[in-house]
Amino acid sequence: MNAPAKKPAPPRSPLSDADRARLDDFYRYIEEKSHSEAGYPSAMDYDYSELKDLLDYSLNNVGDPFVAGTSKVNSREFEIEALQFWARLMRAPQDDWWGYVTNGGTEGNLYGLYLARELYPKGIVYFSQDTHYSVTKNLHFLNMRNIMIRSQPNGEIDYDDLRETLKVNRDSPPIIFANIGTTMTEAKDDLGTINGILDELAIPNRYIHSDAAMCGSIAPFLEPRPRFDFADGADSIAISGHKFIGSPIPCGIVLAHRSHVNRIASAIAYIGNLDTTITGSRNGHTPVIMWYAIKTMGEAGLRARVQISLELAAYAERKFIEAGVGAWRNPDAITVVFPAVSEELQHKWQLATAGGISHMILMPNITRELIDTIVADVAAE
Ligand SMILES: *Cc1c(COP(=O)(O)O)cnc(C)c1O
Repeated sequence: MNAPAKKPAPPRSPLSDADRARLDDFYRYIEEKSHSEAGYPSAMDYDYSELKDLLDYSLNNVGDPFVAGTSKVNSREFEIEALQFWARLMRAPQDDWWGYVTNGGTEGNLYGLYLARELYPKGIVYFSQDTHYSVTKNLHFLNMRNIMIRSQPNGEIDYDDLRETLKVNRDSPPIIFANIGTTMTEAKDDLGTINGILDELAIPNRYIHSDAAMCGSIAPFLEPRPRFDFADGADSIAISGHKFIGSPIPCGIVLAHRSHVNRIASAIAYIGNLDTTITGSRNGHTPVIMWYAIKTMGEAGLRARVQISLELAAYAERKFIEAGVGAWRNPDAITVVFPAVSEELQHKWQLATAGGISHMILMPNITRELIDTIVADVAAE
């Protein structure tokens, strides 16, 4: 093929000295704030510089990743390979899975709830008190009936409250929104126990969505393996790409049973594709980032990073306790929880704080020196 060279861009004025200085300042500010961030789950141990030339192009993965559309400037092939990798780790049924690279965990959760509503229009969504704030907004968009369930002190759903609530609403199919790593304490709801309750109550029509935004990329490497994926009974799973995997641009992965997705697919002539996703235009760069991440880390690399984070979390927990701070963490969590710190420290170390507790999230890029400094600051209060 005789590919034409890229047409030179028409002249634009160069940045003024003041604007360039402003960008330089911004760069330094972001660099410093990235190195001192300890309370939000963004892994930063990555180097995607090999992909930087892709910023010269307007990649757009509009439509279904598995259907080749009319527009060719996309990264579908890379998207599919990234999806295959995560489908295998999520133990998706071989011939009955589908997915796409989303803008993040929230979109994946919206997608799972949307599929559930199409399957069970009269269903009731059950979610725990500790669920991510975005669920309320998603349920509002979808106008779905919902009931909030109590949480246990560690942040996990209260199974007794779930059982009692399901019992009195047996005439409506339950849609369980399970947390695989809650926002504040990284607690994991157990799909085995949840399915046991549904079996015990003889409720065959059910839908389970795993909100694995935080732990979807961690849980497959834990021993014992948490019960959260397709083999454990999930109908759909959302994972964030910019959390433990790491990405400079927010993104995520949603996976679902293909049979659920087929119910909502409709053909769109304009793009020569299926409209199976939530947005129209979709980011074409983040699927390449997700592909690059799995190619350069693989399962072994991800497993090793989980180990690093677990060791850092154990170290931080121990250091806090030695310093007299009442810190704790859930089993195999990389989040260490402690009594709420002052606003000053919340801002200094970007420590997420809610409901009387603060937390540190031990992403693999956190250093022991940073942990020691933060522990000393918190203990001094
Ligand atoms: C981060 C998170 C979300 C939202 O994911 P985004 O990628 O920020 O959209 C939802 N649920 C849980 C449990 C999360 O940790």
